[in-house]
Amino acid sequence: MQIVKIAPRGFAANAYLLTEDGENAVVIDPAQPQVLAEAKRRGLCVKFALLTHGHFDHVGGCAALSAAGAKIGCLKTALSARLPDLGEEFGTPVPDFSLDFTFAAETPFELCKISFLPLATPGHTSDSCCYLVRAAHSEEKRGYVGLFSGDTLFAGNIGRIDLPTGSAAQMRASLARLKALPFDGAVYPGHGEDTTLAKERACNPFLKGI
Ligand SMILES: [Zn+2]
Repeated sequence: MQIVKIAPRGFAANAYLLTEDGENAVVIDPAQPQVLAEAKRRGLCVKFALLTHGHFDHVGGCAALSAAGAKIGCLKTALSARLPDLGEEFGTPVPDFSLDFTFAAETPFELCKISFLPLATPGHTSDSCCYLVRAAHSEEKRGYVGLFSGDTLFAGNIGRIDLPTGSAAQMRASLARLKALPFDGAVYPGHGEDTTLAKERACNPFLKGI
């Protein structure tokens, strides 16, 4: 699987382009419209976009992707459809968009030959979600290739819990969940550098105490 990290221009989240067949791609957190151009430049057609949560800095490219035919999906929670994206509050309004599909936590699904296991990880927001990702089909059974952690877990840090629907108690439970995953490999966070779960277990002060 090819995983391409698209660093933001200005203040926005990391976006990730995932492709298994080298033609069709899934984006996790289309933070900015430039995601489309970056995909085209690599000869990829973005079919789907998955959100880790609804904050403005993670969804700024959704409208452009929708217009180009991609389907936008997120975790099904009571609030998932219309959480405030905080764009106005932070002086960075983003174009409105509609969700095309939702999915349940803990139930894997397949898009573009990639299997996604969504984990409900409330704390940063009540609708926050992480994805464990692996190739859907292969000759030999391969394990997970990455955890896409949104604003729940960063390299050496964690996401804010002081924004609307944030919760320290829920964040603690979500971090405990991530810490206990049977996976040591790559973590692709919503902001900053990539890391690994093994490294975060050993060094992240927010995980060490849990
Ligand atoms: Zn956020």
